[in-house]
Amino acid sequence: MSASSPFAEWITDDPEISRLLDEELNRQRTTLQLIASENFTSPAVLAASGSVLTNKYSEGYPGRRYYGGNQVVDQVEDLARDRLTELFGADHANVQPHSGANANVAVYQALLDPGDTVLAMRLDQGGHLTHGSPASITSKIWNFVSYGLTPASGDPDNPGEMIDMNQVRDLALAERPKLIVAGATAYARTIDAKDYREIADEVGAMLMFDAAHPAGLIAGGAHPNPVGIADVMTFTTHKTLRGPRGGAILCREDLAKKVDGAIFPGLQGGPLEHAIAAKAVAFKEALDPSFSVYAHQVVANAAALAVALEQQGFRLVSGGTDNHLVLLDLRTFDEDLTGKEAQEVMDRAGITVNRNTVPDDPRSPFVTSGLRLGTAAETTAGMGEVQMAEIARLIGTVLKDRNDEAVITSVRKEVAELCGAFDPYASLVN
Ligand SMILES: *Cc1c(COP(=O)(O)O)cnc(C)c1O
Repeated sequence: MSASSPFAEWITDDPEISRLLDEELNRQRTTLQLIASENFTSPAVLAASGSVLTNKYSEGYPGRRYYGGNQVVDQVEDLARDRLTELFGADHANVQPHSGANANVAVYQALLDPGDTVLAMRLDQGGHLTHGSPASITSKIWNFVSYGLTPASGDPDNPGEMIDMNQVRDLALAERPKLIVAGATAYARTIDAKDYREIADEVGAMLMFDAAHPAGLIAGGAHPNPVGIADVMTFTTHKTLRGPRGGAILCREDLAKKVDGAIFPGLQGGPLEHAIAAKAVAFKEALDPSFSVYAHQVVANAAALAVALEQQGFRLVSGGTDNHLVLLDLRTFDEDLTGKEAQEVMDRAGITVNRNTVPDDPRSPFVTSGLRLGTAAETTAGMGEVQMAEIARLIGTVLKDRNDEAVITSVRKEVAELCGAFDPYASLVN
């Protein structure tokens, strides 16, 4: 299947890039997108992202810009902010962060002095690089202390591998952090800001909730809302929230000035107003009642996928899922199968996922013993629980017979048929 995208057609004098845009559109339409941090944005979001707003310099904030000509841009950014505060019930919104990582660094800069102690989740247990990984600049500026998960128990009723709130409390009491960070990048269970708030209050710490992954589920009422409980919430706009690539920050009114100043001029220069317009479009989509139906379907699909994968012999980290993602331990399926090899074989069969460490993974982060899968994108494409069971069967088949080219080819064909029936961009081509 090959079709020309309207975007590629505009690029008349650059056949190389034009061809690559077509190729990527076709890849997204003909293979399964199961990366937990990805989604399919609407044509309206794509159009706003590709608009003339990319030409405009607008350092500053609406009504207080350093350049002329911002009459239109101010209205765009005001709309984005108003829609976002309405969506989450927040006092103040900053829609300028270029990414989730920038949003996090800006909040640290707003609330902390260099050297201050922060308590956040360990990267190898599900946290994010910006939660103080040695590879991240955050660990060079601030003093991060890390919490992790409870051990796996093997008991299906109480499986363990849940965030260890006793450890969070013990570390908070011992280290007296100025800020506690809740939120994760590879954790399949609900994270409730209330549990953290009690501990933060006990030690006089501020609380930041990094909702990069569940932001769309929160907007759709399928995950508890941290706004009003955490002092600040940061998130990406491109994961479950289904907007353009970017970040955003919500906070209480009394922190608004500090947060805004930390983004600009603290960390960034001119905002990406084309991205902000696209964020505004996505926020309007998320305010529509249909988005709540979507968010709940994402969660139902992840639950169905998890059950079906468990039946294939994979172990579910944390014993299951409450959100949009499933973390698989491959070792019960096949002791020799690494995350790296599984990802590569599945790529050849048209099933796009990412390898991921499992808690206490004996293999390196580059090899890993696990896979992370998410349902946000294919739910946007219209898939339901029936298709999730089908996907689990295809994954089990291709990984079992991963050295058999005929099996890989036949799974690739079934994947193409499934994707043909659930095409997120049918309206974009022809
Ligand atoms: C994805 C993610 C981020 C960073 O988002 P980018 O836009 O990739 O910078 C931050 N925190 C968490 C928990 C994430 O999952």
